[in-house]
Amino acid sequence: MTTDICHQSGLISVELAREQLLEAIAPLSETETLPLDQACGRVLAKPAQAQLDLPPCDNSAMDGYALCGESDTPLQLVGKSLAGHPFSGAIGAGECVRITTGAPLPAGADRVVMQEQTELQGDRLTLNTAPKTGEHIRRRGEDVRSGETLLDTGAALKVPDIALLAAAGVARVTVVRRVRAALLSIGDELRSLDTPAAKLGEGNIYDSNRIAIKAALAQLNLDIVDLGCLPDEPRAIRDGFLAARESADIIVTSGGVSVGEADFTRTVLEELGQLELWRLAIKPGKPFAFGHLPRESGRALFFGLPGNPVSALVTLYQLVLPALEKLKGVSDEYRQPPIQCRARLLNPIAKKPGRLDYQRGYTWRDCDGQQVVRSTGVQGSHILSGFSRANCFIVLPREGGNCDTGDWVTIEPFRAPLV
Ligand code: AMP
Ligand code: MG
Repeated sequence: MTTDICHQSGLISVELAREQLLEAIAPLSETETLPLDQACGRVLAKPAQAQLDLPPCDNSAMDGYALCGESDTPLQLVGKSLAGHPFSGAIGAGECVRITTGAPLPAGADRVVMQEQTELQGDRLTLNTAPKTGEHIRRRGEDVRSGETLLDTGAALKVPDIALLAAAGVARVTVVRRVRAALLSIGDELRSLDTPAAKLGEGNIYDSNRIAIKAALAQLNLDIVDLGCLPDEPRAIRDGFLAARESADIIVTSGGVSVGEADFTRTVLEELGQLELWRLAIKPGKPFAFGHLPRESGRALFFGLPGNPVSALVTLYQLVLPALEKLKGVSDEYRQPPIQCRARLLNPIAKKPGRLDYQRGYTWRDCDGQQVVRSTGVQGSHILSGFSRANCFIVLPREGGNCDTGDWVTIEPFRAPLV
């Protein structure tokens, strides 16, 4: 695999790393068939076709009266068509039928007048307007045609998709099976939340990454195998990786992937499998590693996230998520690239050229309608409070330097699973 080694630092650009990750990943091929109400977030493995026209019949877009042609008023009220209770007869010139939103248009009717534009006295209706042909009528099939492909293979089903499929009578869908992800934290200092704060030893910290990564991956519909926390010992790490390799499609670790004397993630990965990417021009998150562990059938993909909590989540979001989309079978057509826009910076930012920086910011539209953004405080890769207060990344280009108040900068509002 080629690597875009930057002249000085030997760091791989984020763009190239993403490209190489996607290249190295083949979508899962196993499928399952599910009832539609269990399919949100899953990816179609077969196209879904409409079982009927939508709307299924001509119907009213308003509460009012269905009429036939341009008759003189008052009109004679001859019946009603309610949603679920159509009018059974036909109407002719000079007649009207009380109709509610969504109720079938009676035979003979060609327009609907809104209730607010009429006056009813007994069974005589006077119009305060002259409705045109077709007015307030929703036509059969104007949304969807029976047999039409609504969503193709590779579509990640969103809530509006579920609504569309349900309306079109698609009761079951064939989707790619769930991705299985094994999670591991690595670090002698880490303790689980079962340990009360008062009982933590000196230098101990909570294993927050595993909880946060688990929360993120759960939102993405992954099956999670939580393998807990490993000490900084090569043998324990080896055993942990072997267990993870057997139980999952992807292994997500955090910690021990840098260059410290107790960082064994890479060495064990290289011993059992292959390291394909390591050290990116990203801030925070430089020590990010990607590789794979071969096993009897196929291989498990390996994502080694840095231990610093902000770095772990930033690299999960910026690198693991696009890789997961591909693994889950989302086709290019249905991939959702991050939305970036420009905002006016409200505070100066210090930055050295060399790494693409994902600073944490808070953005809003000010009273003049201008999109503005400010940093949420100190930007250390261990500062979680600023991340928690943020609603966007301030994306500072790799070769850029300091920014001043008033500069236009690129922002990337958080999406799931960060929100
Ligand atoms: P490392 O990547 O192992 O060098 O760790 C970098 C920093 O992240 C250190 O301060 C670690 O204590 C911290 N860290 C490592 N793993 C975790 C974790 N699972 N949860 C919270 N902090 C962690
Ligand atoms: Mg460590």
